[in-house]
Amino acid sequence: MGNDAVKMERLEAHRAVIGDGFEIRRAVPNRHCRMIGAWCFLDHAGPVRYKPGKGLNIGPHPHIGLQTFTWMIEGEVLHRDSLGCVQLIRPGQVNLMTAGRGISHSEESPLGRTGRFHSTQLWIALPDAERHREPDFHHYPALPVIDRGGFRVTVLAGTCDGEISPARVYTPLVGLDIATRGRAQCTLPLNPSFEHAALTLEGAPDLNGDLLEPGTLLYLGTGHGSLELNSPAKSRVLVIGGVPFGEEILLWWNFVARTPAEMEAARRDWIEGERFGQVHGASGKPLIAPELKGLNPGGARK
Ligand code: MN
Repeated sequence: MGNDAVKMERLEAHRAVIGDGFEIRRAVPNRHCRMIGAWCFLDHAGPVRYKPGKGLNIGPHPHIGLQTFTWMIEGEVLHRDSLGCVQLIRPGQVNLMTAGRGISHSEESPLGRTGRFHSTQLWIALPDAERHREPDFHHYPALPVIDRGGFRVTVLAGTCDGEISPARVYTPLVGLDIATRGRAQCTLPLNPSFEHAALTLEGAPDLNGDLLEPGTLLYLGTGHGSLELNSPAKSRVLVIGGVPFGEEILLWWNFVARTPAEMEAARRDWIEGERFGQVHGASGKPLIAPELKGLNPGGARK
């Protein structure tokens, strides 16, 4: 459902700013593609070199109804949350926070650090039966890797070619990071019942014979049983997919819900200091909820 029944489409990522002035590119949601499976949000940050004090600094803020999935490629980020988890994430690692009924967290570059930064943060919508569950947080220090035709394929979520990610998700989905330092070629199996999309994080490889431009999400739709990647030089591609979600969601600010009334209740609880607990030790100020307006039932999807 959704996504305008498009078979294949190139979708431009748009620039956005997070925290106090950190610029990223947001590939999902997009006017023409609200979700890929349960993946409902995709920010790509870097690669960039930041100066001291100019790294990521996102103060405490709440989430409901989703999982935040952070994949670190270069640099480090310190996560703190209202469950008391304090976790530094390093390259090659995943942080997976399940908001469920409500959690708050902060994300910042470690103090005094300067250097390269390259990461993606994705959100995964929780299905109705799971979205009110208790919050939790998991750090995955290592993910399974497949070496194939010069590519290094990291199975971030779901399965690929017999390798299974330990990341706990609640709908059938997949996430792959496919990287090479030089010329490479490979074919990987895909689940044809999933819809898939690919985003180039670095370089400009070919996917199934189509050039993948940096900053452009290639939406592939369903029915693809394999993926062929050709890269003339260093490149990195993120591939995400999943069973079409099948539930209408609302996405507003940091919340995924089903009705405007749920959004209003979550916003009010954040303002009043209810439900979302406390994040201790964050260097950034708590984020202020924006005004809630223009939110129609089903308005987050066409
Ligand atoms: Mn967050």
